[in-house]
Amino acid sequence: MTTTLIRPVRPWGRALSDVTLTDGIITAVAPHHPAGGAGTAGSPGAVSPAVSTGATVVEGRGRLLLPAFSDAHVHLDSTRIGLPFREHTGGPGVWEMMLNDRRNWRTAEVSLQERVNETLGRMIARGTTRVRSFAQVDVDCRLERFEAVSAARETFRDRAAVQIVAFPQAGLLREKGSVEMLEEALKAGADVVGGIDPCSLDRDPAQHLDLVFGLAEKYQVPIDIHLHEPGALGVFSADLVLERTRALGMQGQVTLSHAYQLGSVSEATTSRLLEAFAELDVCLTSVAPATSGQLPLTRMAEAGIRFGLGEDGQRDYWSPYGNADMLDRTWQLAFTQGFRQDELIEHCLAVATVGGASILDPSAVRLKDTAHRPGLDAGDPADLLLVGGETLSSAVMDRGTDRTVLRAGRIVADQLELVS
Ligand SMILES: [Zn+2]
Repeated sequence: MTTTLIRPVRPWGRALSDVTLTDGIITAVAPHHPAGGAGTAGSPGAVSPAVSTGATVVEGRGRLLLPAFSDAHVHLDSTRIGLPFREHTGGPGVWEMMLNDRRNWRTAEVSLQERVNETLGRMIARGTTRVRSFAQVDVDCRLERFEAVSAARETFRDRAAVQIVAFPQAGLLREKGSVEMLEEALKAGADVVGGIDPCSLDRDPAQHLDLVFGLAEKYQVPIDIHLHEPGALGVFSADLVLERTRALGMQGQVTLSHAYQLGSVSEATTSRLLEAFAELDVCLTSVAPATSGQLPLTRMAEAGIRFGLGEDGQRDYWSPYGNADMLDRTWQLAFTQGFRQDELIEHCLAVATVGGASILDPSAVRLKDTAHRPGLDAGDPADLLLVGGETLSSAVMDRGTDRTVLRAGRIVADQLELVS
């Protein structure tokens, strides 16, 4: 049995507390006791049993305690984090951007494996311990990118849980052999099957989605579909996804990523979609874009829709944005939503932590509304982030470096550096 005591900290910004972790799980949260350990507040001066049996003590120093971040949408296979800044050479649209990446990714300054490892390491060091990463699979890169992300997952397995989406970034119908490659990735152990813009990229939405849902059924994996399509076209594709989710009994196993403009058509459409997503337990993820017409975040929370945050491609051939820091992306979510009230800024933290975790692990606790702050109670996993800050909102605004990251009760990073 391994026991860790964190003291004193402020769970979700509340009163000073001592938190006991046993075998990777939070087992007690008690008011801080200056003289002893967790659970001993009623017996002044007593030595905590946990301490006397050699528990590891983590000095909380009054910092905020949060569930660790879950990045629910990142492309570890395209990252250039840590490399020299590069001129953006992508053309407009998904196909042109994909071709730009295809022309360049093999000739980066260091190997893909080094890039993936560097970025995942930095993400963990900044507080992320659960990740859903896409890995492009197509007739050009074949499984090369998938294998690099798989190897990184293995390297960091004690520090983060990584899910891999086999992702047909180039579509399924434009290049012969694409479907077969996607299936190869699933045979090789991909956790999730991806899809993308069934109307605008493949221009045959029913066939695209039938292929994706067919593979999901065959390999018994969930689905995560990139939906960049605008306005009514995006709603049309979303409806096709909902139709198949219902018909195939895939409730709770489908995620729509981006879905930039599903809230742009009409109030009636927005309400109908929110109701359908809630009913069929379809998840949504956002990378906090500065676009208008998104589904309203507060109404998604009130409807009980699982919603997560991600960093997308980071400083890669698609975009110069991203810095491996989910606290930074949390700020971006709050900023792009125009939030000022503390409760709403705190809700962004809840989305970036437990919100994403509930997508990666459907059995994890779910957010009920914008005031719900779960994930730090006895019985919850001890994937935790300690971060300096006066209040939760101030931590989001300041994005300080005084952080300690725990994965399954063990410190895996401190002061933005991985610890061995
Ligand atoms: Zn993406």
